[in-house]
Amino acid sequence: MSELENEIQEIPCPKCRNKVIKIKISDMISRREAKCSSCKSKYEFGSSEVSTLKSAIHDLEKAQDKYEDSLNKIMDKAKIIIIN
Ligand SMILES: [Zn+2]
Repeated sequence: MSELENEIQEIPCPKCRNKVIKIKISDMISRREAKCSSCKSKYEFGSSEVSTLKSAIHDLEKAQDKYEDSLNKIMDKAKIIIIN
């Protein structure tokens, strides 16, 4: 599982005042809902929005890989000039 999917989202309960639903992104995707542990009220997420979120995570991971590769490459290809 990616780091992004392990991130915790804090969503205000739609019913309780001052209650926050804490849920991992991966659970939002797999359960397609976020439920308040106190009152059991919940948000249900649409499958199309869940798919969009999944693909956004995928794109971010690809961008992250590209960034890390380019950072490695810039060092690999750097011209080294040593001054005596
Ligand atoms: Zn609640």
